[in-house]
Formats: sequence, C-alpha cells, structure tokens
Amino acid sequence: HADIAMYQAKEAGRNNFCFFSEDMSRHIQEKARLHRALRQAVQDGNQFVLHYQPKISPVSGQITGVEALVRWVSPEHGFIPPDRFIPLAEESGLINALGRWVLKQGCQDFIHLKSMGIHLQHISINVSNIQLNHRDFLQELKGMIADTGITPEQLELEMTESFIASDQQEAIQILQTIRNMGLQLAIDDFGTGYSAMSFLQKLPITRLKIDKSFVDGLPHDNDSIALVKAMLSLAENFSLAVTAEGVEYQEQMEFLKKAGCHEIQGYFYSRPLPFDDLVTYCKARKNR
Ligand code: C2E
Ligand code: MG
Ligand code: MG
Ligand code: MG
Repeated sequence: HADIAMYQAKEAGRNNFCFFSEDMSRHIQEKARLHRALRQAVQDGNQFVLHYQPKISPVSGQITGVEALVRWVSPEHGFIPPDRFIPLAEESGLINALGRWVLKQGCQDFIHLKSMGIHLQHISINVSNIQLNHRDFLQELKGMIADTGITPEQLELEMTESFIASDQQEAIQILQTIRNMGLQLAIDDFGTGYSAMSFLQKLPITRLKIDKSFVDGLPHDNDSIALVKAMLSLAENFSLAVTAEGVEYQEQMEFLKKAGCHEIQGYFYSRPLPFDDLVTYCKARKNR
C-alpha cells in the first residue's frame, strides 16, 4: 500500500510527494511508539483495567451476566480504546499475554462478585483468533479455571465468525474442546462477517450476539427488522441463546423483548462500568 500511495503522490507532483511521505513516516513512527508502549504495558500489567457491561433479561429485568471489556490507560498516550490497541496487540502477538491477563482478572472479579452475594449466570470474555489458535491456549484455559475456581459453565468466550473462516475443521475441533470443558461459546458481532448461515449448524456454540449495526435500525427500518427477526428464528432453530448488542433506546429494547431476544446489552441499561460501579449497579437492580 505504501508503494501505491508513494506512486500516486509522485504522480500528483513534487509538493504532494513531500506531503504524503512525511505523513506516512509520521504514521509509521506513531504506530511504532504505540507498539513499544503496548509491549511495556503488557509487561507492567498495571496499565490495563477491565470494565463490565451488564447484560439484562428484558423479561425479568434482572442482570444475567456481564461482558468484560479491557481498557488501557497509558502514562504516555492517555486513554486508548480497544479498537485501536487490540489490532496492534494481535499483529505483535502481545494479545496472548494480554488475553491471559483479561481471562484471569475477569474470572477473579466474577468470583469476587459471588463472595459479595452477587450471583450472575455468566461472565463473557472476548478472545481473539490469535489466542484461540495458540497451541498453549486450551491448556492455559484449564489451568486458569482450576486456579480461579470459576465454574466452567459460568465462563462464556466470545469470538467472531472469522475464526471459522480459515481452517474449518481445525476451528471446530478447538471449539468442541472448549465446549467439552463445559464453557459457553458466543459468536460476537454476528451478521457482520461473510460466512454462510449454514455454517452455524456445524458449530458447537451456545449463543449469537446480534451486532449493533442491526439494532441501530430498530424499531422502524424494515431491513433491520427483517434481519433481526431472521437471526432470532435461526437461533431458535439451532437452540442458541441470543444477545442484542448496542441497545440504546427503550423502543429498541421493547422490540427485541417482543421478538423473543433473551438478553439485552447496551447503553439503554448501562455503559461498561468499573468493578466498584458494577457492584453498585447490581445491588440497585436487585433491590428494585
Ligand atoms: P465487542 O466485543 O463487540 O464489544 C461491544 C462494544 O460496543 C464495546 O466497545 C462496548 O463498550 C460498545 N457498546 C456497548 N453498548 C453500546 C451502545 O449501546 N452503544 C454504543 N455506541 N456502543 C456500545 P469497546 O469496549 O470499545 O470494545 C470494542 C471492541 O474491542 C470489542 O467489541 C471487542 O471486539 C474488543 N475488545 C474489548 N475488550 C477485549 C478483550 O479483552 N479482548 C479482545 N480480544 N478484544 C476485546
Ligand atoms: Mg464482545
Ligand atoms: Mg460485538
Ligand atoms: Mg466488536
């Protein structure tokens, strides 16, 4: 890509060439700086924090579970959103160490909640394709479950459709092993990938998470309505639970509740919260 940009810049004239190449080298330098900072952060371990977004049953109004979402506060760069540093961590392989930390911290926090009398059905943790494909992942997962004392059924891993895209047989094997250990498996951002829906039938998964982009059009846009209903009926046929992501408005929640969606996640109920705020939120909801 750099070559093409360079060529186009040259074509456009000398001045543009200078402008483009400076821009590019600045971009590369910035990325390298962020990369170094990330490596340091993963080593330090104390620059990351998990926030938790409650997931609510629209029928009972109770919290069914939480999704752990990692946050990086860098002393050098300030707050950096996961959409920026997760891809970088994946490129560099740092995601394996970071992902280990997230899993362990998430499970420990879940046990901590339990000890405070807050009993949730599950905690969901995002895992990257790189992690799932790592040769030590399953062994580490087993060790981590034993160490933290979490019940495997209470741990749900979220992955994206793209995990299955590369080597189907291999991917299914890994997922099956995770299911055999007792964990739950969710497909995140469902509908945004390019996989044929028939692939669902082959996958040992337990939940679909409808991507925010489909929820956004609810409850009025006809395409969104059709797609969300199709996903819900697909899930029902395959006995999968469904979570809707990015639910921001009451009318969206009402639509999804009526359509039979099991779990709602989004700003309408709550943003992702630091641990202490999650505790407060759980207590308030229980006592309603
Ligand atoms: P995701 O797993 O699909 O998580 C949902 C994202 O949507 C979160 O963004 C959440 O804060 C945001 N969100 C939830 N409800 C709403 C809403 O009502 N409106 C809007 N506008 N946004 C909402 P976040 O925390 O910035 O995370 C972005 C992505 O980064 C995640 O998408 C996930 O793919 C990745 N990620 C986060 N934590 C981890 C992690 O520990 N490991 C890995 N591998 N990826 C992670
Ligand atoms: Mg997720
Ligand atoms: Mg998602
Ligand atoms: Mg996402």
